[in-house]
Amino acid sequence: MFNIKIFDKNKTFKPKKGFSKGTKRHDLHRHAKATLGSGNLRLAVALPEREDLNEWLAVNTVDFFNQINLLYGSITEFCTPKTCEVMSAGPKYEYLWADGESVKKPIKVSAPEYVEYLMTWVQNILDDETIFPSRVDVQFPKNFQTIVKNIFKRLFRVYGHIYYSHFPKIVSLGEEAHLNTCFKHFYFFIVEFNLVDKKEMLPLQDLIDNLTKTNN
Ligand code: ZN
Repeated sequence: MFNIKIFDKNKTFKPKKGFSKGTKRHDLHRHAKATLGSGNLRLAVALPEREDLNEWLAVNTVDFFNQINLLYGSITEFCTPKTCEVMSAGPKYEYLWADGESVKKPIKVSAPEYVEYLMTWVQNILDDETIFPSRVDVQFPKNFQTIVKNIFKRLFRVYGHIYYSHFPKIVSLGEEAHLNTCFKHFYFFIVEFNLVDKKEMLPLQDLIDNLTKTNN
């Protein structure tokens, strides 16, 4: 069991996204949570039988966003423009921010600014009814999976940054096992649906090899 006390619900970085009760997506969210409880992460990420892939991607995108939000929220006071001048995952990987819309030309910002841009960008997409429709009778856009891939690619970088720049803090908070489980779940989901290019995952390749030695 991981240490509960650090999970102050008010401490999420951005407000938590929810699902309306009685909806298909709420059921899927509960299904995802229940299978996760079984402890087999590979099984937990699989598309449930007879379910729609886009619905499953939508539910999990929101859940992973909330989870990363919470994880980053727990170290946000230690990730400052001073400690983390650039958004990086170790010395070899630096990230510039651009969303292709309001920021077309990549800009160099500190890690906390980058994460702020990133989480706001994801949140706006999740709140966009034309991309993540809350009504089941409204169809997902044709480029939905491309958008989801882009979200996962960028969320991956937050894990990269936490592991490279804030792991000792995570350990001192007693959050290490929890972080590893969250990341492993995230990684298995990415692999199951081929959401992120291998080269984007290189910064954490050693960790991935280590965490996936066992089969669950
Ligand atoms: Zn940082």
